[in-house]
Amino acid sequence: MSKSESEMCFYCKEYYKVTQDYPVNTATHDVGSFTPRCFLHWQYECSKCGIMTHFNGVAWCSACKEFTCVNCVEERMVRKEFLVYDYYYEIPCHICGEYNPALDYAEYNGTHPFQIGEQTPKEDVIVWMPIYRDEIQPQEFPHQAWGFERILSLGGHVEFKRLESLDDFDPISLWDDITPIWVRKMRDEREFHHKHMILPEVYRLLDAQKDDKILDVACGEGRVARDLAKNGSKITGIDISEMLEYAVEREEKEKLGIKYLNLNTSELSNKFGEASFDKVVCNMALMDIEDYQTTLKQIANVLKEDGLFVFSITHPAFAWPTCTSFRVPKGSKRNEDKLRVVLNYFDERPTLVNYGGSLIQFPRPISSYLNELARNNLVLKEMSESKASEELVKKFPRHTYMDYETYPDFLIIQTVKKSNF
Ligand SMILES: [Zn+2]
Ligand SMILES: [Zn+2]
Ligand SMILES: [Zn+2]
Repeated sequence: MSKSESEMCFYCKEYYKVTQDYPVNTATHDVGSFTPRCFLHWQYECSKCGIMTHFNGVAWCSACKEFTCVNCVEERMVRKEFLVYDYYYEIPCHICGEYNPALDYAEYNGTHPFQIGEQTPKEDVIVWMPIYRDEIQPQEFPHQAWGFERILSLGGHVEFKRLESLDDFDPISLWDDITPIWVRKMRDEREFHHKHMILPEVYRLLDAQKDDKILDVACGEGRVARDLAKNGSKITGIDISEMLEYAVEREEKEKLGIKYLNLNTSELSNKFGEASFDKVVCNMALMDIEDYQTTLKQIANVLKEDGLFVFSITHPAFAWPTCTSFRVPKGSKRNEDKLRVVLNYFDERPTLVNYGGSLIQFPRPISSYLNELARNNLVLKEMSESKASEELVKKFPRHTYMDYETYPDFLIIQTVKKSNF
């Protein structure tokens, strides 16, 4: 008889990945869920409270022949790498107070009551004996990484990697590599997110007037600069990636009077001097800029008193790479099959993401942005989380149904410079 993958125990399969002598048992509990489990990896009845408890939250006391669960006593955490984990709980016996490891570690340690014969499984399971324990290859820790992968393995996902350092990467040259893809994407001006979710809000909040002197920070291939220039505003666009060449090339053809400069945000004050712009806009770029603090400081510097600074970013709480979504069943195009999970909101490590080419993003919490704005006299005026309108949902159901009407992927912030606030 051949057993399908889905009938096998989730835990047995995970352990088998690291120790090839692990016997994979048939699942008899939670069959049909993401994590079907065998009897060994199911639940054990706490001898104190009588509640059936997940095996990783209950310990066996050999002296008292009793199970104790984490809800009845105060457990402690022991940091140790074993199987696919990097810690386990030690749970004091509710009778004698002796600390015993929870059953996940007990199994690895060879002290599980089924292994030592102090309990008999009520269902047919092959119990692993950890004789080759020392040969198990160490896993990649911290354990959250395994948690991410487990979640992400349930559905397709954009490739990503949190980086410990930027030593092997140059964020700008990565942008250069992706330039042709990005320019094509932005040029046909049909890119869904910019066209419908981001730019209408950026333009509403920027409220550009004819003859406004506007600085477009990290202008890329010039989409925003062109839109604003057509409206009669006087635009200066700065960028340091190769995308700027496309912007310049297009300006030579269209002649909208846009000035483009290859300039780093840290040089803004040197180049333009204080209070030289009525407004500053930065569209979908601050999350790609490592030193956002200097960037915001420089922006505040070149902005006139009472001038508006408007920026858009991927939403720090709900968008990639803090959050991800996956579909169960995998590949389903129905939006009700889409689940969103927060991976780690506070993880500020640079992240290598793949948008048809690799890019580095610098995720940071909303509070980091807001506090930095406050430090630079940029007072919050309005915040937009770009919710899909009813008309948009009707027109683009696959893009928006149960998606942009449920979660925002973008955050757009309007601030005003007030030095004496
Ligand atoms: Zn199992
Ligand atoms: Zn209990
Ligand atoms: Zn005991």
